[in-house]
Amino acid sequence: MAKDELSARMERIVSLCKRRGFIFQSSEIYGGINGFWDYGPMGVELKRNLKDFWWRRNVQEREDVVGMDGSIIMNRAVWRASGHEETFSDPMVDCKVCKTRHRADLLPERDGAKYCAHCGSAHLTEPRDFNLMFKSHAGPIESDENLVYLRPETAQAMFVQFRNILDTSRQKLPFGIAQIGKAFRNEINPRNYTFRSREFEQMEIEYFCRAEDGLRLTDYWLEERLKFYEDIGIPRPKIHIKDIPAADRAFYSKRTYDLEYEFPFGVSELEGIAYRTDYDLSRHIEHSGKPLEYHDEVAKEKFVPHVVEPSAGVDRTALALICEAYDEEEIAGEGGGSETRTVLHFHPRMAPVKCGIFPLLKNKPALVACARDIAARLRPHMTVFYDEAGAIGRRYRRQDEIGTPFCVTVDFDTIGENGPEKAETVTLRHRDAMSQERIPIADLRERLLAAIH
Ligand code: ATP
Repeated sequence: MAKDELSARMERIVSLCKRRGFIFQSSEIYGGINGFWDYGPMGVELKRNLKDFWWRRNVQEREDVVGMDGSIIMNRAVWRASGHEETFSDPMVDCKVCKTRHRADLLPERDGAKYCAHCGSAHLTEPRDFNLMFKSHAGPIESDENLVYLRPETAQAMFVQFRNILDTSRQKLPFGIAQIGKAFRNEINPRNYTFRSREFEQMEIEYFCRAEDGLRLTDYWLEERLKFYEDIGIPRPKIHIKDIPAADRAFYSKRTYDLEYEFPFGVSELEGIAYRTDYDLSRHIEHSGKPLEYHDEVAKEKFVPHVVEPSAGVDRTALALICEAYDEEEIAGEGGGSETRTVLHFHPRMAPVKCGIFPLLKNKPALVACARDIAARLRPHMTVFYDEAGAIGRRYRRQDEIGTPFCVTVDFDTIGENGPEKAETVTLRHRDAMSQERIPIADLRERLLAAIH
């Protein structure tokens, strides 16, 4: 697709997200706030499905990974030890002509020279470091002693609690700690919709191991993570694996893979998988003076474990899911011509609503009662949407736009008006093929649960 077409496609995706309650600008009625977003009724379900499935795959279905939920604000000493206070910065430049501010490493280049992405001028200031951590104060006094940061990543809590978790979980190496939570970065230029925000969520694993297993386990996690993306509906060919060369890696990392997705605005990072050696635990041993070593009782050895870190963004993955699912199809219209169907082809396990439930007509109490009864019986097991307004075709279209994989219609056959053999059966309509089949009400729950698990 050409660049113009891709940006038009992105605009239509953004507009659908607002129209159908996926994503709104934060504080919109006051003009918004750059880099912050709210998720509406559909968006929150999508994110929840994503986080729940990540947790299930990486924590609940594994013997060797345990979870935790750390605080957002931690002792400032954590960020000194981790190096964030000193070095978690991006190079910032100002355009001398239009006075806009930019991240120097993301500026476009012409004949080897960077230029302003806003006005095109090459008159830029020298880059200077801008620390991305948001500051606040804990307690009523705004002094340097009370200075705290909003965490810019969830990872540090897992290093800082390594000893407590090791002592209480009875894990042996190799094992991991996983966490999902908010992170904050005062990005110089929030952009590309939710892709680069100032408040976002991360899903991170710190997988601790022996030094000799580090490189092998980095490749193991790369494969696990690719499988995960496939299982939520992002096919492998859409993920680009970037093996980061030594010169571009953090100095302590022996291997780093970036997983990138083909967003309409360009191929961009979804997740980083970094083999961080023993850097993090060693720094915390040094700064806290506490013993964070691992004791191997059998081999009678004591050492600092190495760590492999798969670190993914919830918001970036949710945006990738929406971009991947979005489609505009030409289909036969009701009046004979053709019409465009906007549809989100979400994997059923990610879809915000699993099943739409419709009575054929809203003025027939027996149809309405039966449809409401089916909705009530499915609701404890999945998100359903009851809708009686408008023609059935219009109701299908509304569900297509939010990516509902199944719709059930209750008609006169269901309530036994056309003979006993079709009674207690409904039409089950499939979103992608737009095909319909007749199935007994009694089979609905099992059929749908098997597809959305
Ligand atoms: P980038 O180079 O895009 O700034 P990064 O390499 O600094 O990202 P990491 O520090 O590796 O990102 O963070 C891990 C993950 O957290 C990223 O892969 C991404 O999914 C998510 N993430 C990081 N920064 C942001 C942000 N500003 N907005 C949304 N998600 C983010």
